[in-house]
Amino acid sequence: MIDEKPVVATTDEVVAELRKRPAFVMVSHVKPDGDTLGAGLALGIALKKLGKRVHYFQQDAVPRNLRFLPDTEFVSRDVPADLPADTLWVFGDMSDTARAGEFLPKLARENILDIDHHLGNSHFGALNYVLPHECSTGTCVVHLLRGLKVDIDKDIATCLLTTIMTDTGGFMHSNTTPEVLTLSAELMHLGANKEQITEEIFANKRLAALKLLGRALNEAQAEHDGRYIWSFVDEAMLAECGADGEDTEEIVNHLRSVEGVEVSALFKDYDGDIRVSLRSSGRVNVQAAASRLGGGGHFRASGLTFVGSLPDAVRAVDEALVAEGL
Ligand code: 5GP
Ligand code: MN
Repeated sequence: MIDEKPVVATTDEVVAELRKRPAFVMVSHVKPDGDTLGAGLALGIALKKLGKRVHYFQQDAVPRNLRFLPDTEFVSRDVPADLPADTLWVFGDMSDTARAGEFLPKLARENILDIDHHLGNSHFGALNYVLPHECSTGTCVVHLLRGLKVDIDKDIATCLLTTIMTDTGGFMHSNTTPEVLTLSAELMHLGANKEQITEEIFANKRLAALKLLGRALNEAQAEHDGRYIWSFVDEAMLAECGADGEDTEEIVNHLRSVEGVEVSALFKDYDGDIRVSLRSSGRVNVQAAASRLGGGGHFRASGLTFVGSLPDAVRAVDEALVAEGL
């Protein structure tokens, strides 16, 4: 069997393609975060400056804490009927097209550009600009903006810094290299509003979210000699706290911060299927564990969707983690 190495597009190839196409749809993933959305907005705003037609496709509504980003008022799950046939659909921050959701129209591969930094990216585009060493999809976009020679204005800089601060956990994760800090400083010089990003993404929590955190922490179970900790959120807990899915985001990180914990998991048992978030302190590869169950992500942060009951999900995730060395 021939071992096919995935072909990664060069910056020049992607820049040439961006210059060639008249119209673009920037696509972000379901349950959007600051990276998928910020990267799409940054590139979208830049392409508009070059006179291109740009739309933004996102199945889910823009989360409350990302509404401060420029251009979010144009983000929609509706696609205009009059798009030219050679519109380029630019996917940001996802390993496969399924992550864009079931509302995504059927697309020809030749009209897909895949920009991502995930290890397990399936190279689903005609061009795949997949750079796993980048801290965010937004920093992949930075190379393209430099290639396109567009001015990074204050709006673009804010979107880009949002991608970095989201995916480095506010400069705390191990992907915060000196280069990332230098680039972030440059973006601040260009007008990126770090204070606003910090406030919107890392503060500004609803009381309901804190109450939900308390409820979930109460349910936390430590296993494998305290190296693994997991909890869950279900419909009843959401209702009790007056919270919704957007209020669950930080819980898994709090669980990970417990002394001695190597892996944390949060099982989100509402909206039908069970969504699982996994975090690792660096020894166990949670991307590999999630992949065993059809999910994906990064070495230290991954997720998956489980079809079945909560106890079955808990058992399956435990087995996948043990298989990855937990
Ligand atoms: P979160 O736990 O914040 O939802 O996701 C953490 C990481 O895992 C993110 O990088 C996200 O893109 C990835 N991820 C989450 N859910 C899935 C999934 O169902 N499939 C894949 N391939 N990646 C996921
Ligand atoms: Mn990302």
